[in-house]
Amino acid sequence: MEPRSRTVAILTPSGSDGPLACRMLARADIEGRVCRDMADTLQCIADGVGAVVIAEEALGRAARAELTASLDRQPAWSDLPMVVLLSEDELSNVLAPGVAQLAARANLTLLERPVRLATLVTTLRSALRARERQYDVRDSIAERAAAAEELRESEARLRATVLAAPYPLMLHAEDGTILQLSRAWSELSGYTSDELTTTREWTRLAYGELAPAADELVEQDLVRSEPSEGTPKSFGERTVRTRDGRQRTWDFHSVVLGRLPDGRRLRLVAARDVTDFRQLLESERSAREDAEKANRAKMDFLAVMSHELRTPLNAIGGYTQLLELGIHGPVTEAQRKALARIKTSESHLLGLIEDVLNFAKIEAGRVTFDLKPMLVADLVTEVDALMEPQMRAKGIAYERDDPPMVLVQVDPEKARQVLLNLLSNAVKFTPGGGRITISFEARAEDVDISITDTGSGIPLEKQEAIFEPFVQVQRAYTSTTGGTGLGLAISRDLARSMGGGLAVRSEPDRGSTFVLTLPRAQ
Ligand code: ADP
Repeated sequence: MEPRSRTVAILTPSGSDGPLACRMLARADIEGRVCRDMADTLQCIADGVGAVVIAEEALGRAARAELTASLDRQPAWSDLPMVVLLSEDELSNVLAPGVAQLAARANLTLLERPVRLATLVTTLRSALRARERQYDVRDSIAERAAAAEELRESEARLRATVLAAPYPLMLHAEDGTILQLSRAWSELSGYTSDELTTTREWTRLAYGELAPAADELVEQDLVRSEPSEGTPKSFGERTVRTRDGRQRTWDFHSVVLGRLPDGRRLRLVAARDVTDFRQLLESERSAREDAEKANRAKMDFLAVMSHELRTPLNAIGGYTQLLELGIHGPVTEAQRKALARIKTSESHLLGLIEDVLNFAKIEAGRVTFDLKPMLVADLVTEVDALMEPQMRAKGIAYERDDPPMVLVQVDPEKARQVLLNLLSNAVKFTPGGGRITISFEARAEDVDISITDTGSGIPLEKQEAIFEPFVQVQRAYTSTTGGTGLGLAISRDLARSMGGGLAVRSEPDRGSTFVLTLPRAQ
Protein backbone atom coordinates (compact mmCIF):
# COMPACT_ATOMS: atom_id res chain seq x y z
CA MET A 1 0.00 0.00 0.00
CA GLU A 2 1.37 3.45 -0.92
CA PRO A 3 2.12 5.87 1.96
CA ARG A 4 -0.35 8.63 2.93
CA SER A 5 1.24 12.07 3.13
CA ARG A 6 0.10 14.77 5.56
CA THR A 7 2.73 17.22 4.31
CA VAL A 8 1.69 20.62 2.95
CA ALA A 9 3.88 22.10 0.21
CA ILE A 10 4.25 25.87 0.58
CA LEU A 11 5.28 28.15 -2.28
CA THR A 12 5.69 31.85 -1.40
CA PRO A 13 8.07 33.86 -3.55
CA SER A 14 9.10 36.35 -0.84
CA GLY A 15 11.96 34.69 0.99
CA SER A 16 10.96 34.68 4.66
CA ASP A 17 7.18 33.99 4.38
CA GLY A 18 7.58 30.29 3.71
CA PRO A 19 9.77 29.30 6.71
CA LEU A 20 7.67 31.53 8.97
CA ALA A 21 4.43 29.85 7.81
CA CYS A 22 6.06 26.45 8.35
CA ARG A 23 6.95 27.26 11.92
CA MET A 24 3.50 28.53 12.73
CA LEU A 25 1.82 25.51 11.13
CA ALA A 26 4.13 23.17 13.04
CA ARG A 27 2.67 24.56 16.25
CA ALA A 28 -0.75 23.43 14.99
CA ASP A 29 0.73 20.01 14.20
CA ILE A 30 0.76 20.47 10.44
CA GLU A 31 3.99 19.62 8.64
CA GLY A 32 4.98 22.15 6.01
CA ARG A 33 7.56 21.89 3.28
CA VAL A 34 8.92 25.11 1.81
CA CYS A 35 9.31 25.06 -1.99
CA ARG A 36 11.86 27.23 -3.77
CA ASP A 37 9.95 27.61 -7.02
CA MET A 38 7.24 26.10 -9.15
CA ALA A 39 9.52 23.23 -10.31
CA ASP A 40 10.16 22.31 -6.70
CA THR A 41 6.40 22.48 -5.98
CA LEU A 42 5.61 20.22 -8.93
CA GLN A 43 8.15 17.74 -7.55
CA CYS A 44 6.30 17.80 -4.21
CA ILE A 45 3.02 17.16 -6.03
CA ALA A 46 4.63 14.27 -7.89
CA ASP A 47 5.88 12.93 -4.55
CA GLY A 48 2.26 12.87 -3.42
CA VAL A 49 1.91 15.69 -0.83
CA GLY A 50 -1.36 16.05 1.08
CA ALA A 51 -2.09 19.68 0.08
CA VAL A 52 -0.46 22.75 -1.48
CA VAL A 53 -0.37 26.42 -0.40
CA ILE A 54 0.60 28.88 -3.13
CA ALA A 55 0.85 32.62 -3.02
CA GLU A 56 -0.94 34.25 -5.94
CA GLU A 57 2.17 36.08 -7.10
CA ALA A 58 3.88 32.69 -7.75
CA LEU A 59 1.22 31.91 -10.35
CA GLY A 60 2.67 33.62 -13.38
CA ARG A 61 1.42 32.57 -16.79
CA ALA A 62 4.18 29.95 -17.36
CA ALA A 63 4.01 28.62 -13.80
CA ARG A 64 0.20 28.31 -14.08
CA ALA A 65 0.49 26.33 -17.30
CA GLU A 66 3.00 23.95 -15.72
CA LEU A 67 0.80 23.53 -12.66
CA THR A 68 -2.30 22.82 -14.75
CA ALA A 69 -0.40 20.24 -16.79
CA SER A 70 0.86 18.57 -13.65
CA LEU A 71 -2.67 18.40 -12.16
CA ASP A 72 -3.91 16.85 -15.39
CA ARG A 73 -1.35 14.09 -14.96
CA GLN A 74 -2.65 13.19 -11.48
CA PRO A 75 -4.37 9.79 -11.21
CA ALA A 76 -8.17 9.67 -11.35
CA TRP A 77 -8.65 9.33 -7.59
CA SER A 78 -6.57 12.45 -6.86
CA ASP A 79 -8.15 15.89 -6.51
CA LEU A 80 -5.25 17.69 -4.82
CA PRO A 81 -6.48 20.38 -2.39
CA MET A 82 -4.80 23.74 -3.05
CA VAL A 83 -4.99 26.94 -1.05
CA VAL A 84 -4.19 30.15 -2.98
CA LEU A 85 -3.27 33.19 -0.94
CA LEU A 86 -4.62 36.24 -2.79
CA SER A 87 -2.60 39.47 -2.87
CA GLU A 88 -3.67 42.22 -0.46
CA ASP A 89 -3.63 44.94 -3.04
CA GLU A 90 -5.74 43.00 -5.48
CA LEU A 91 -8.68 43.23 -3.23
CA SER A 92 -11.59 43.59 -5.55
CA ASN A 93 -14.63 41.73 -6.55
CA VAL A 94 -13.05 40.45 -9.71
CA LEU A 95 -10.70 37.51 -9.54
CA ALA A 96 -7.50 37.67 -11.56
CA PRO A 97 -8.33 35.77 -14.77
CA GLY A 98 -5.43 33.28 -14.30
CA VAL A 99 -6.62 32.30 -10.84
CA ALA A 100 -10.22 32.05 -12.05
CA GLN A 101 -9.08 29.67 -14.79
CA LEU A 102 -7.23 27.49 -12.31
CA ALA A 103 -10.16 27.53 -9.89
CA ALA A 104 -12.32 26.06 -12.60
CA ARG A 105 -10.12 22.95 -12.94
CA ALA A 106 -8.62 22.32 -9.52
CA ASN A 107 -9.73 21.83 -5.94
CA LEU A 108 -9.02 25.42 -4.97
CA THR A 109 -9.63 27.42 -1.80
CA LEU A 110 -8.94 31.17 -1.99
CA LEU A 111 -7.80 33.04 1.11
CA GLU A 112 -7.37 36.79 1.13
CA ARG A 113 -4.33 38.26 2.80
CA PRO A 114 -3.66 39.11 5.49
CA VAL A 115 -4.65 35.59 6.47
CA ARG A 116 -5.35 34.82 10.07
CA LEU A 117 -3.43 31.79 11.27
CA ALA A 118 -6.55 30.10 12.60
CA THR A 119 -8.20 30.43 9.19
CA LEU A 120 -5.18 28.89 7.46
CA VAL A 121 -4.98 26.05 9.98
CA THR A 122 -8.66 25.09 9.74
CA THR A 123 -8.60 25.38 5.97
CA LEU A 124 -5.54 23.13 5.75
CA ARG A 125 -6.97 20.63 8.24
CA SER A 126 -10.10 20.19 6.19
CA ALA A 127 -7.98 20.01 3.02
CA LEU A 128 -5.90 17.22 4.56
CA ARG A 129 -9.07 15.42 5.68
CA ALA A 130 -10.40 15.58 2.15
CA ARG A 131 -7.05 14.30 0.93
CA GLU A 132 -7.34 11.41 3.44
CA ARG A 133 -10.61 10.34 1.84
CA GLN A 134 -8.94 10.46 -1.57
CA TYR A 135 -6.23 8.12 -0.22
CA ASP A 136 -9.03 5.77 0.93
CA VAL A 137 -10.37 5.71 -2.60
CA ARG A 138 -6.86 5.16 -3.96
CA ASP A 139 -6.26 2.21 -1.61
CA SER A 140 -9.56 0.55 -2.33
CA ILE A 141 -8.94 0.87 -6.08
CA ALA A 142 -5.53 -0.74 -5.55
CA GLU A 143 -7.08 -3.54 -3.48
CA ARG A 144 -9.65 -4.26 -6.13
CA ALA A 145 -6.98 -4.27 -8.83
CA ALA A 146 -4.91 -6.72 -6.82
CA ALA A 147 -7.91 -9.01 -6.34
CA ALA A 148 -8.69 -8.88 -10.05
CA GLU A 149 -5.06 -9.67 -10.82
CA GLU A 150 -5.16 -12.64 -8.48
CA LEU A 151 -8.32 -13.90 -10.14
CA ARG A 152 -6.68 -13.56 -13.54
CA GLU A 153 -3.67 -15.49 -12.32
CA SER A 154 -5.75 -18.27 -10.82
CA GLU A 155 -7.75 -18.49 -14.03
CA ALA A 156 -4.49 -18.73 -15.98
CA ARG A 157 -3.30 -21.49 -13.67
CA LEU A 158 -6.60 -23.34 -14.10
CA ARG A 159 -6.34 -23.05 -17.87
CA ALA A 160 -2.79 -24.40 -17.83
CA THR A 161 -3.87 -27.35 -15.70
CA VAL A 162 -6.84 -28.08 -17.97
CA LEU A 163 -4.63 -27.88 -21.06
CA ALA A 164 -2.18 -30.43 -19.70
CA ALA A 165 -4.74 -32.92 -18.30
CA PRO A 166 -4.18 -36.40 -19.73
CA TYR A 167 -7.91 -36.92 -20.36
CA PRO A 168 -10.66 -34.85 -22.04
CA LEU A 169 -11.34 -31.69 -19.98
CA MET A 170 -13.30 -28.59 -21.02
CA LEU A 171 -13.54 -25.33 -19.13
CA HIS A 172 -16.41 -23.13 -20.24
CA ALA A 173 -18.44 -20.14 -19.06
CA GLU A 174 -22.18 -20.30 -18.44
CA ASP A 175 -22.93 -18.62 -21.79
CA GLY A 176 -21.21 -21.55 -23.51
CA THR A 177 -17.93 -19.81 -24.35
CA ILE A 178 -15.17 -22.43 -24.19
CA LEU A 179 -12.21 -21.02 -22.26
CA GLN A 180 -9.93 -24.00 -22.41
CA LEU A 181 -9.81 -27.55 -23.80
CA SER A 182 -7.29 -30.13 -22.77
CA ARG A 183 -5.00 -31.41 -25.50
CA ALA A 184 -6.43 -34.87 -24.87
CA TRP A 185 -9.90 -33.56 -25.80
CA SER A 186 -8.62 -32.35 -29.15
CA GLU A 187 -6.52 -35.44 -29.77
CA LEU A 188 -9.30 -37.92 -29.01
CA SER A 189 -12.08 -36.02 -30.78
CA GLY A 190 -10.00 -34.65 -33.65
CA TYR A 191 -11.47 -31.14 -33.21
CA THR A 192 -8.96 -28.35 -32.47
CA SER A 193 -9.58 -25.65 -29.90
CA ASP A 194 -9.79 -23.14 -32.77
CA GLU A 195 -12.86 -24.93 -34.11
CA LEU A 196 -14.45 -25.36 -30.73
CA THR A 197 -15.13 -21.95 -29.30
CA THR A 198 -18.58 -22.63 -27.83
CA THR A 199 -20.28 -25.64 -26.28
CA ARG A 200 -22.93 -25.46 -28.99
CA GLU A 201 -20.30 -25.97 -31.68
CA TRP A 202 -19.10 -29.02 -29.78
CA THR A 203 -22.56 -30.55 -29.39
CA ARG A 204 -23.37 -29.88 -33.06
CA LEU A 205 -20.18 -31.65 -34.21
CA ALA A 206 -20.16 -34.46 -31.68
CA TYR A 207 -23.85 -35.32 -31.37
CA GLY A 208 -25.43 -34.31 -34.70
CA GLU A 209 -29.21 -34.32 -34.39
CA LEU A 210 -28.97 -35.14 -30.69
CA ALA A 211 -27.26 -31.79 -30.06
CA PRO A 212 -30.37 -29.89 -28.84
CA ALA A 213 -30.93 -32.45 -26.09
CA ALA A 214 -27.30 -32.14 -25.01
CA ASP A 215 -27.50 -28.32 -25.02
CA GLU A 216 -30.62 -28.57 -22.92
CA LEU A 217 -28.74 -30.65 -20.35
CA VAL A 218 -25.94 -28.08 -20.07
CA GLU A 219 -28.52 -25.34 -19.66
CA GLN A 220 -30.29 -27.36 -17.01
CA ASP A 221 -27.06 -28.05 -15.13
CA LEU A 222 -25.90 -24.45 -15.05
CA VAL A 223 -28.73 -22.03 -15.27
CA ARG A 224 -32.01 -23.54 -14.20
CA SER A 225 -31.07 -25.70 -11.27
CA GLU A 226 -29.22 -23.41 -8.87
CA PRO A 227 -25.89 -25.28 -9.13
CA SER A 228 -24.03 -26.19 -5.99
CA GLU A 229 -20.43 -25.25 -6.55
CA GLY A 230 -17.78 -27.91 -6.30
CA THR A 231 -20.17 -30.89 -6.31
CA PRO A 232 -19.40 -33.12 -9.28
CA LYS A 233 -22.33 -34.46 -11.26
CA SER A 234 -22.39 -37.50 -13.52
CA PHE A 235 -23.93 -37.21 -16.98
CA GLY A 236 -23.34 -40.83 -17.90
CA GLU A 237 -22.05 -42.22 -21.15
CA ARG A 238 -22.63 -40.64 -24.54
CA THR A 239 -21.64 -41.57 -28.03
CA VAL A 240 -19.34 -38.92 -29.47
CA ARG A 241 -18.70 -38.58 -33.21
CA THR A 242 -15.08 -37.74 -33.91
CA ARG A 243 -13.80 -35.65 -36.81
CA ASP A 244 -12.87 -38.75 -38.81
CA GLY A 245 -16.40 -40.13 -38.43
CA ARG A 246 -15.69 -42.77 -35.80
CA GLN A 247 -17.92 -43.21 -32.76
CA ARG A 248 -16.41 -43.19 -29.30
CA THR A 249 -18.06 -43.63 -25.92
CA TRP A 250 -17.26 -40.93 -23.39
CA ASP A 251 -18.34 -40.99 -19.78
CA PHE A 252 -19.09 -37.39 -18.69
CA HIS A 253 -18.87 -35.59 -15.35
CA SER A 254 -19.18 -31.88 -14.67
CA VAL A 255 -18.60 -29.49 -11.82
CA VAL A 256 -19.55 -25.83 -11.38
CA LEU A 257 -16.47 -24.00 -10.11
CA GLY A 258 -17.30 -20.38 -9.28
CA ARG A 259 -17.38 -17.17 -11.23
CA LEU A 260 -15.20 -15.31 -13.70
CA PRO A 261 -14.22 -11.67 -12.89
CA ASP A 262 -17.12 -10.63 -15.14
CA GLY A 263 -19.59 -12.65 -13.04
CA ARG A 264 -20.21 -15.54 -15.46
CA ARG A 265 -20.29 -19.00 -13.88
CA LEU A 266 -17.47 -21.40 -14.72
CA ARG A 267 -18.07 -25.07 -15.46
CA LEU A 268 -15.55 -27.84 -15.88
CA VAL A 269 -16.53 -30.88 -17.94
CA ALA A 270 -14.44 -34.04 -17.63
CA ALA A 271 -14.78 -37.13 -19.78
CA ARG A 272 -13.34 -40.61 -19.74
CA ASP A 273 -13.00 -42.43 -23.04
CA VAL A 274 -14.48 -45.84 -22.22
CA THR A 275 -14.77 -47.06 -25.83
CA ASP A 276 -12.17 -49.84 -25.55
CA PHE A 277 -13.52 -50.95 -22.21
CA ARG A 278 -17.09 -51.13 -23.57
CA GLN A 279 -15.93 -53.02 -26.67
CA LEU A 280 -14.09 -55.50 -24.49
CA LEU A 281 -17.20 -56.06 -22.37
CA GLU A 282 -19.34 -56.45 -25.46
CA SER A 283 -17.01 -58.99 -27.11
CA GLU A 284 -16.72 -60.88 -23.84
CA ARG A 285 -20.50 -60.99 -23.56
CA SER A 286 -21.04 -62.19 -27.12
CA ALA A 287 -18.27 -64.79 -26.74
CA ARG A 288 -20.01 -66.08 -23.62
CA GLU A 289 -23.34 -66.12 -25.43
CA ASP A 290 -21.81 -68.10 -28.30
CA ALA A 291 -20.27 -70.56 -25.88
CA GLU A 292 -23.57 -70.99 -24.07
CA LYS A 293 -25.35 -71.50 -27.35
CA ALA A 294 -22.80 -74.11 -28.44
CA ASN A 295 -23.12 -75.86 -25.09
CA ARG A 296 -26.90 -75.92 -25.37
CA ALA A 297 -26.65 -77.36 -28.88
CA LYS A 298 -24.27 -80.04 -27.60
CA MET A 299 -26.61 -80.92 -24.76
CA ASP A 300 -29.62 -81.05 -27.08
CA PHE A 301 -27.66 -83.33 -29.37
CA LEU A 302 -26.67 -85.61 -26.45
CA ALA A 303 -30.24 -85.78 -25.21
CA VAL A 304 -31.68 -86.60 -28.63
CA MET A 305 -28.93 -89.08 -29.46
CA SER A 306 -29.14 -91.03 -26.22
CA HIS A 307 -32.92 -91.09 -26.42
CA GLU A 308 -32.76 -92.44 -29.99
CA LEU A 309 -30.18 -95.09 -29.00
CA ARG A 310 -32.31 -96.38 -26.19
CA THR A 311 -35.10 -97.64 -28.45
CA PRO A 312 -33.02 -100.04 -30.61
CA LEU A 313 -31.03 -101.11 -27.53
CA ASN A 314 -34.24 -102.08 -25.79
CA ALA A 315 -35.21 -104.02 -28.90
CA ILE A 316 -31.84 -105.84 -28.81
CA GLY A 317 -32.47 -106.69 -25.15
CA GLY A 318 -36.02 -107.87 -25.85
CA TYR A 319 -35.10 -110.12 -28.78
CA THR A 320 -32.12 -111.58 -26.91
CA GLN A 321 -34.48 -112.53 -24.13
CA LEU A 322 -36.90 -114.14 -26.58
CA LEU A 323 -34.06 -116.14 -28.12
CA GLU A 324 -32.88 -117.22 -24.64
CA LEU A 325 -36.37 -118.40 -23.81
CA GLY A 326 -36.24 -120.67 -26.88
CA ILE A 327 -39.28 -119.02 -28.50
CA HIS A 328 -37.59 -119.30 -31.89
CA GLY A 329 -36.36 -122.88 -31.41
CA PRO A 330 -33.92 -124.68 -29.12
CA VAL A 331 -30.76 -122.87 -28.03
CA THR A 332 -27.39 -124.62 -27.77
CA GLU A 333 -25.09 -124.07 -24.80
CA ALA A 334 -22.65 -122.07 -26.96
CA GLN A 335 -25.49 -119.88 -28.21
CA ARG A 336 -26.72 -119.33 -24.65
CA LYS A 337 -23.28 -118.09 -23.60
CA ALA A 338 -23.16 -115.73 -26.56
CA LEU A 339 -26.64 -114.46 -25.75
CA ALA A 340 -25.57 -113.85 -22.15
CA ARG A 341 -22.65 -111.72 -23.38
CA ILE A 342 -24.97 -109.78 -25.67
CA LYS A 343 -27.26 -109.18 -22.68
CA THR A 344 -24.39 -107.96 -20.44
CA SER A 345 -23.10 -105.59 -23.10
CA GLU A 346 -26.59 -104.37 -23.79
CA SER A 347 -27.28 -103.47 -20.18
CA HIS A 348 -23.83 -101.89 -19.81
CA LEU A 349 -24.47 -99.73 -22.87
CA LEU A 350 -27.96 -98.90 -21.61
CA GLY A 351 -26.42 -97.74 -18.29
CA LEU A 352 -24.01 -95.41 -20.11
CA ILE A 353 -26.77 -94.00 -22.25
CA GLU A 354 -28.92 -93.41 -19.16
CA ASP A 355 -26.01 -91.41 -17.68
CA VAL A 356 -25.63 -89.25 -20.77
CA LEU A 357 -29.35 -88.65 -20.94
CA ASN A 358 -29.56 -87.74 -17.26
CA PHE A 359 -26.65 -85.36 -17.52
CA ALA A 360 -28.09 -83.66 -20.59
CA LYS A 361 -31.41 -83.28 -18.82
CA ILE A 362 -29.87 -81.79 -15.66
CA GLU A 363 -27.73 -79.35 -17.66
CA ALA A 364 -30.77 -78.25 -19.61
CA GLY A 365 -32.60 -77.68 -16.32
CA ARG A 366 -35.23 -80.22 -17.31
CA VAL A 367 -35.05 -82.26 -14.11
CA THR A 368 -37.68 -81.54 -11.48
CA PHE A 369 -37.13 -82.16 -7.79
CA ASP A 370 -39.71 -83.53 -5.41
CA LEU A 371 -38.23 -82.47 -2.06
CA LYS A 372 -39.51 -84.08 1.14
CA PRO A 373 -38.17 -84.82 4.65
CA MET A 374 -36.46 -88.18 4.97
CA LEU A 375 -34.50 -89.94 7.74
CA VAL A 376 -30.80 -90.24 6.95
CA ALA A 377 -30.95 -93.81 8.24
CA ASP A 378 -33.67 -94.81 5.72
CA LEU A 379 -31.73 -93.30 2.87
CA VAL A 380 -28.54 -95.17 3.71
CA THR A 381 -30.15 -98.51 4.55
CA GLU A 382 -31.83 -98.75 1.15
CA VAL A 383 -28.56 -98.01 -0.62
CA ASP A 384 -26.24 -100.32 1.23
CA ALA A 385 -28.70 -103.20 0.85
CA LEU A 386 -28.03 -102.83 -2.89
CA MET A 387 -24.26 -102.48 -2.58
CA GLU A 388 -23.34 -105.02 0.06
CA PRO A 389 -23.45 -108.08 -2.27
CA GLN A 390 -21.00 -106.39 -4.68
CA MET A 391 -18.57 -105.60 -1.88
CA ARG A 392 -18.74 -109.09 -0.54
CA ALA A 393 -18.15 -110.51 -4.02
CA LYS A 394 -15.01 -108.38 -4.41
CA GLY A 395 -13.73 -109.14 -0.90
CA ILE A 396 -14.06 -105.58 0.43
CA ALA A 397 -14.77 -104.98 4.11
CA TYR A 398 -17.71 -102.68 4.79
CA GLU A 399 -18.31 -100.55 7.91
CA ARG A 400 -21.15 -98.20 8.64
CA ASP A 401 -21.41 -95.85 11.63
CA ASP A 402 -24.84 -95.35 13.18
CA PRO A 403 -26.70 -92.71 11.18
CA PRO A 404 -27.97 -89.69 13.20
CA MET A 405 -31.73 -89.64 13.79
CA VAL A 406 -32.31 -86.46 11.79
CA LEU A 407 -34.37 -85.58 8.74
CA VAL A 408 -32.91 -84.24 5.50
CA GLN A 409 -34.93 -82.35 2.90
CA VAL A 410 -34.27 -84.26 -0.35
CA ASP A 411 -35.74 -85.83 -3.43
CA PRO A 412 -35.31 -89.44 -2.17
CA GLU A 413 -34.69 -90.97 -5.56
CA LYS A 414 -32.04 -88.39 -6.50
CA ALA A 415 -30.29 -88.62 -3.14
CA ARG A 416 -30.21 -92.40 -3.50
CA GLN A 417 -28.79 -92.06 -7.01
CA VAL A 418 -25.92 -89.91 -5.69
CA LEU A 419 -25.12 -92.32 -2.84
CA LEU A 420 -25.24 -95.31 -5.21
CA ASN A 421 -22.86 -93.56 -7.57
CA LEU A 422 -20.40 -92.77 -4.76
CA LEU A 423 -20.52 -96.30 -3.37
CA SER A 424 -20.15 -97.99 -6.75
CA ASN A 425 -17.16 -95.71 -7.52
CA ALA A 426 -15.67 -96.76 -4.18
CA VAL A 427 -16.16 -100.42 -5.05
CA LYS A 428 -14.87 -99.86 -8.58
CA PHE A 429 -11.62 -98.16 -7.48
CA THR A 430 -10.88 -100.26 -4.37
CA PRO A 431 -9.07 -103.56 -4.85
CA GLY A 432 -10.08 -106.75 -3.01
CA GLY A 433 -8.97 -106.72 0.62
CA GLY A 434 -9.74 -103.00 0.91
CA ARG A 435 -12.26 -101.30 3.13
CA ILE A 436 -15.20 -98.91 2.62
CA THR A 437 -16.61 -96.88 5.51
CA ILE A 438 -19.70 -94.66 5.79
CA SER A 439 -19.68 -92.01 8.55
CA PHE A 440 -21.92 -89.05 9.45
CA GLU A 441 -21.75 -85.58 10.89
CA ALA A 442 -24.95 -83.67 11.70
CA ARG A 443 -24.86 -79.87 12.11
CA ALA A 444 -27.59 -77.35 12.74
CA GLU A 445 -28.22 -76.66 9.06
CA ASP A 446 -27.06 -79.80 7.28
CA VAL A 447 -25.68 -83.33 7.45
CA ASP A 448 -22.46 -84.74 5.95
CA ILE A 449 -22.47 -88.33 4.70
CA SER A 450 -18.84 -89.40 4.10
CA ILE A 451 -17.88 -92.45 2.04
CA THR A 452 -14.25 -93.40 2.60
CA ASP A 453 -12.38 -96.07 0.67
CA THR A 454 -8.84 -97.46 0.75
CA GLY A 455 -8.63 -97.51 -3.05
CA SER A 456 -6.46 -95.94 -5.72
CA GLY A 457 -7.01 -92.36 -4.59
CA ILE A 458 -7.03 -89.28 -6.84
CA PRO A 459 -4.05 -86.94 -7.44
CA LEU A 460 -4.59 -83.43 -6.03
CA GLU A 461 -4.53 -81.72 -9.44
CA LYS A 462 -7.43 -83.93 -10.61
CA GLN A 463 -9.62 -83.53 -7.55
CA GLU A 464 -11.62 -80.64 -8.98
CA ALA A 465 -11.61 -81.93 -12.57
CA ILE A 466 -13.33 -85.23 -11.77
CA PHE A 467 -16.54 -83.27 -11.16
CA GLU A 468 -16.39 -82.04 -14.75
CA PRO A 469 -18.30 -84.15 -17.30
CA PHE A 470 -16.35 -86.88 -19.10
CA VAL A 471 -13.23 -86.51 -16.93
CA GLN A 472 -11.59 -89.74 -15.77
CA VAL A 473 -8.26 -89.95 -13.98
CA GLN A 474 -6.88 -92.98 -15.78
CA ARG A 475 -8.60 -93.80 -19.00
CA ALA A 476 -6.68 -97.06 -19.45
CA TYR A 477 -7.78 -98.26 -16.04
CA THR A 478 -11.33 -97.04 -16.22
CA SER A 479 -11.80 -98.45 -19.68
CA THR A 480 -11.56 -101.83 -18.04
CA THR A 481 -13.90 -100.80 -15.25
CA GLY A 482 -16.37 -99.02 -17.56
CA GLY A 483 -18.03 -95.70 -16.92
CA THR A 484 -18.48 -92.45 -18.85
CA GLY A 485 -16.94 -89.94 -16.49
CA LEU A 486 -20.39 -88.45 -15.95
CA GLY A 487 -21.33 -89.96 -12.59
CA LEU A 488 -19.69 -87.31 -10.37
CA ALA A 489 -20.79 -84.41 -12.61
CA ILE A 490 -24.38 -85.62 -12.33
CA SER A 491 -24.04 -86.28 -8.59
CA ARG A 492 -22.66 -82.82 -7.80
CA ASP A 493 -25.38 -81.16 -9.92
CA LEU A 494 -28.06 -83.16 -8.13
CA ALA A 495 -26.62 -82.43 -4.67
CA ARG A 496 -26.38 -78.71 -5.40
CA SER A 497 -29.85 -78.55 -6.90
CA MET A 498 -31.21 -79.93 -3.61
CA GLY A 499 -29.35 -77.22 -1.67
CA GLY A 500 -26.41 -79.41 -0.69
CA GLY A 501 -22.95 -80.17 -2.11
CA LEU A 502 -20.38 -82.79 -2.96
CA ALA A 503 -16.65 -82.61 -2.22
CA VAL A 504 -13.64 -84.90 -2.18
CA ARG A 505 -10.49 -85.46 -0.07
CA SER A 506 -8.06 -87.97 -1.41
CA GLU A 507 -4.46 -89.15 -1.38
CA PRO A 508 -3.13 -91.32 -4.22
CA ASP A 509 -2.66 -94.99 -3.20
CA ARG A 510 -4.19 -94.37 0.25
CA GLY A 511 -7.82 -93.84 -0.67
CA SER A 512 -10.53 -91.19 -1.03
CA THR A 513 -13.33 -89.67 0.98
CA PHE A 514 -16.35 -88.25 -0.83
CA VAL A 515 -18.51 -86.01 1.36
CA LEU A 516 -22.16 -85.54 0.38
CA THR A 517 -23.78 -82.64 2.22
CA LEU A 518 -27.58 -82.54 2.42
CA PRO A 519 -29.73 -79.79 3.98
CA ARG A 520 -31.72 -80.66 7.09
CA ALA A 521 -35.50 -80.51 6.98
CA GLN A 522 -36.91 -77.62 9.04
P1 ADP B 1 -16.95 -92.84 -14.01
O1 ADP B 1 -16.95 -93.50 -12.70
O2 ADP B 1 -18.11 -93.17 -14.87
O3 ADP B 1 -15.67 -92.84 -14.73
P2 ADP B 1 -17.30 -90.53 -12.37
O4 ADP B 1 -17.69 -89.15 -12.72
O5 ADP B 1 -18.16 -91.23 -11.38
O6 ADP B 1 -17.22 -91.31 -13.72
O7 ADP B 1 -15.82 -90.49 -11.87
C1 ADP B 1 -14.85 -89.78 -12.60
C2 ADP B 1 -13.49 -90.25 -12.30
O8 ADP B 1 -13.15 -89.92 -10.95
C3 ADP B 1 -13.32 -91.71 -12.35
O9 ADP B 1 -13.07 -92.13 -13.67
C4 ADP B 1 -12.10 -91.93 -11.48
O10 ADP B 1 -10.93 -91.64 -12.21
C5 ADP B 1 -12.28 -90.90 -10.41
N1 ADP B 1 -12.92 -91.45 -9.20
C6 ADP B 1 -14.21 -91.37 -8.82
N2 ADP B 1 -14.41 -91.97 -7.63
C7 ADP B 1 -13.22 -92.47 -7.24
C8 ADP B 1 -12.78 -93.21 -6.09
N3 ADP B 1 -13.60 -93.56 -5.08
N4 ADP B 1 -11.45 -93.54 -6.01
C9 ADP B 1 -10.62 -93.19 -7.00
N5 ADP B 1 -10.98 -92.48 -8.12
C10 ADP B 1 -12.27 -92.14 -8.23
